[in-house]
Parts: sequence; C-alpha cells; structure tokens
Amino acid sequence: MTRLLYRTAGFGLFSNFVLALVLVAGAWTYFTAQLTLGWLAVIIAVSLARWFINWKFAQRPRGDEELAAWRTAFVSGTVVAGAVWGLGAWLFLHTSDLLPRFLVVLIIAGMNAGAARSLAPVRGCFVIYTVTTLGPAAAAFLAYRETGGWTLVACTVTYVFFLINTARLHHGDLRKLFRLIFENEELVTTLSDAKSRAETANLAKSEFLATMSHEIRTPMNGIIGMLQLIRDSHLTEDQQQLVGIAGKSAHTLLRLLNDILDLSRVESGKLEFEELDFSPAEVGDEVTALFSTEARLKGLPVTFQPGPNLPLLVTGDPTRLRQVLLNLVGNAVKFTEKGRVEVAVEVVKADADLVILQFRVTDTGIGIDAATQARLFEKFSQGDSSMTRRYGGSGLGLAISQSLVRRMGGEIRVRSVPGQGAVFSFDLPLPITDRPRLANVPPAEAPVPLRGRVLVVEDDWGNQRVIEMFLRKLGLDPVMVDNGAEGVELACKQSWAAVIMDLHLPGIDGFETARRIRRRLEGRPLPIIALTANIRPENRLASEEAGMDDFLGKPVRQTELRACMERWLGTRP
Ligand code: ADP
Repeated sequence: MTRLLYRTAGFGLFSNFVLALVLVAGAWTYFTAQLTLGWLAVIIAVSLARWFINWKFAQRPRGDEELAAWRTAFVSGTVVAGAVWGLGAWLFLHTSDLLPRFLVVLIIAGMNAGAARSLAPVRGCFVIYTVTTLGPAAAAFLAYRETGGWTLVACTVTYVFFLINTARLHHGDLRKLFRLIFENEELVTTLSDAKSRAETANLAKSEFLATMSHEIRTPMNGIIGMLQLIRDSHLTEDQQQLVGIAGKSAHTLLRLLNDILDLSRVESGKLEFEELDFSPAEVGDEVTALFSTEARLKGLPVTFQPGPNLPLLVTGDPTRLRQVLLNLVGNAVKFTEKGRVEVAVEVVKADADLVILQFRVTDTGIGIDAATQARLFEKFSQGDSSMTRRYGGSGLGLAISQSLVRRMGGEIRVRSVPGQGAVFSFDLPLPITDRPRLANVPPAEAPVPLRGRVLVVEDDWGNQRVIEMFLRKLGLDPVMVDNGAEGVELACKQSWAAVIMDLHLPGIDGFETARRIRRRLEGRPLPIIALTANIRPENRLASEEAGMDDFLGKPVRQTELRACMERWLGTRP
C-alpha cells in the first residue's frame, strides 16, 4: 500500500503546483500581493519538499522494513500540505466577490475528489487531509454570517462524509486486490516448487533404477553363466530340469532388469537413437522368424506380410524398431491360443526421399477390453492380476514400446474386440536411402577355429570363472588378472591374441588401463574388448575413445563371446 501511495502521488503533486498558481492568479486582484505571494511561497515550498521525498523514495527499490518510515514521511507531508491548502481556503474565502470564492471551492473540492482515490491506500490519511482542507473552508462559510452560510456548511460536511466513504470503499477494494495478487503469487510459487520437486524426484528415481538394475546385472552374469556351464556338464534328468528352471527364472529376471533399465533411460531422456540403413522387410522377417518355433509349439502360424513397393533401405534405428516389434509380436503370441498372428509392413505414403511405413501386428487371441485399453500404455499395467499369474510379464513392455515409437515419430494404436483378437499398429516416417548398407555384416558360414592366449582383466571372481570357462570351451587359453596395473604389465610384456577388459575395476579403471596399454604398445596391434554391465551408448563411446575395439555387455552369452572372438581372432593367421 505504501508503494502504491508513492507510485500514484506524482500526478497529485504536479497538480498542486498548477492549482496553487491558478488560485493565486484568480485571487490576485482581490487580495494584497503580500498575502497571495506569501501563501504561494509556502505551498510551493511544501510541494517541493513532498516532491523531494517522493523522488528519494523512487531512487532505489525499498525493502519491506523501510516502508513504515516512508509511510510516516508521506502522511506527514500530506498533513502539512492539507493544512496549507486549508489556510489558503480560509484566507481566500474571506471576500464578498464571487470569482475567488468559486475558484477556492472548485479547487479544494476537486483536489479532495482526486485525493480520495490517491490517498486511499493508507487508512486515515485521507480523513486527515479532507478535514484539514475542507474544515477551514466550512469555518469560513460560517464566518460569512449570510443566509445560505449554514447550507454551505451542511453541503461541505456531507461532501466530506461522502468522500471519506469513497476512500474507505476504495481502500477495501485495494486490500482485496492485493490479497488476490499475493495469493496468486504464492500459489504460482508453490506450484512451481512442487513441479520442480516432482521433476527432481522423478529424475532421481530414474537414476536409481538405472544404477540398481545395472548393479544387479553384474552378479546376474555369474549366475546365468554358471547355470549354462552346469547344464552342459553331466547331470541326471532331474538335475537338468531343476537347472533349466533356474536358468529360465534368471533370464526372466534379466529381461525385467533390461526393461527397467530401458524405461529409466527413456524417461531420463538418455536413450540414444542410431541412424543406420536397414531393410524394413528384413526386420519384419527376422522378428517373425524368432517367434516361429515358440508359436509352432502352440500350433500358431506367425506370418509376415511385406506390402507392395516397400523401399529396399531406409534410415533409422533397426534395433529399437526390432525391440518394439518383438514386444508386440511376443504379446500377440502370448495372448493367442488358436488362430494366427500376422506381422505386416506397408507403405502409407511415399515421396522421393521419405516414406511413411505402417507396422501392424494382428492376432486372433483373447483381445483387450475397453478399460484395459485405456491404460494399456501405462507402466506396470496389465489386463488383471490373474494375467500376471497365467502369462507372466511385468506390464512394462508396452510403456517402453510406446516411448520408443514416440521418439521415432509415431504412436502405437490399438484396436480390439475382446475374445476376437487385437491389432497393434504404428506409422513411422523414415528417410529412404540408396547408400550401400553399413550395418549387418553377413555371419560367418562355418565356425572359425580359434587359437591363442587371451588376457582377461576382471575383478569379480564369479565373472572370472564364467569367462574363463567360456573361453576354454572356444579353444582359447585364458589368463586372469584382477586389476588394471597388472593388466597393463602383462599385456605389454607378453604376447596375446586379445585382451578382455572389465571397465569397472578397483584402482585404475578399464578405460585408463586400455589407454595405458595402447600407449605402451606404440601402435602394435592388439584387440582389446570391453566387457561391462553398463551397456549405455555413452559407455560404448567412451570405451572406443579409450582405444578399445569392441564392446560386450554383461551377462555375456557364449554365442556372443564366440561371435566377438571370431571377429577378432578368426581371420588372423
Ligand atoms: P507384459 O510384460 O505384461 O506383457 P505389456 O506392457 O507388454 O506388459 O502388456 C500389458 C498388458 O496388455 C498385458 O498384460 C495384457 O493384459 C495386455 N496385452 C498386450 N498385448 C495384448 C494382446 N496382443 N492381446 C491381449 N492382451 C494384450
């Protein structure tokens, strides 16, 4: 209110000067020069002082604690100015001439009308002002002792009450207005605070999930590898069965971990998309082929229908696309007992260098009711709890798929009649390419014989055993060390076919170890293969920058390890 008082006072102060001049000009001929000029000098001095206070206030922003003093200064200025105007009214009404009388009444009444608004912010301020200005005028009317003098006094008093009431109402309105503004500001602050808290919490949750699932993947490596090795040893049929169940559970857990890792990456915006040339028909074919064995056991044909005029190659992320299709076809196979599952890819629209492709997965399974459809793409959402028991799954697949498809510029839609099946489809805009393909090196025809010593730098005992046995099975001769410093020494002093490097090591980490080996080797060739549970793209990039040649995710499978070793050792003499 005090700030408002100062902000609106400027015009009032300016009109003080003008009106004082007008009054003196009008009264000039009726009163002595001494009286008129004397009064003018006083009112101008007071107005200048008030103007100075106003100017000082506006010099810099004033803190709340200063405001009480400034309010007192303003009100004091107003009281003094009011008294001087009241004196003027008293002096210049003492005449029988009508002109100065009219002038005084008009000016004082007008000033009060204006002040009722501008002084309203501070309660009581206007009351003092109106009494000090109009009080002497009323006294002057009384002093006339003319008929009508009392009428004028009555008019003045009525006018004073009317103005005081106006100022009071205006003050009330201002209070309401300010309260609304403050409440609004508070609400906005509270809301934006809450929003940023929620965002931070969400990010922390994603980070936590990513770290946790990453940490759990490492021991999973040991469990899955060991189970694989036990299964390949001589076991009774019962033992085989038990180990088989344990292996299945471990894989389910790993899939769940991967889902959570994916989801947290999508949510924290850390998921990178590759730009590779790929054949959309090939992706559809691959996904269909992957399910044909499982589906054949159920007597369920899974077919692939490539539409006409499909471009040979498009640019995009075939891995992510495959992931989405795998999930949709996996669900279709899971929820269909009889009938068929059909995967289709069709051109929706095409021009010279861009094509919109529709990917569609149709099944004749149990279908999805409207209520489930509405929350199908939410995290951890499943048809009902009996579904989980009967079919398994985490309810994350569609949430992840939807996020992935959205990032690729599409949207998964679903159409379904319960009991008759479901159709999941999405359209993706994909640039057509005619460049030669970079990805998909054709797989080797026959297994390449492997020979040589492999240095494994890995600190976890369990993982050491798994890799050691895998490598031995491949015909290689592994040597284990559990820290980077020893790794550097051995790698450079002896001759090796390859080095397998865990990235997370005590002391110097895998990146630094690789860098030191590269420096010491001074260009002599030696394949270094990173092995890590942290399979994020940025980690892969960092390992490349540290001079490593290949990248294996944990838990490593024997087939992946074989493929990798064949890549680096198979063609070497
Ligand atoms: P989950 O890992 O449980 O399969 P999803 O997110 O992939 O998680 O699927 C969530 C739910 O959507 C499933 O539990 C199921 O109720 C329903 N659903 C998905 N696809 C189909 C389908 N083709 N037919 C019937 N129901 C489906």
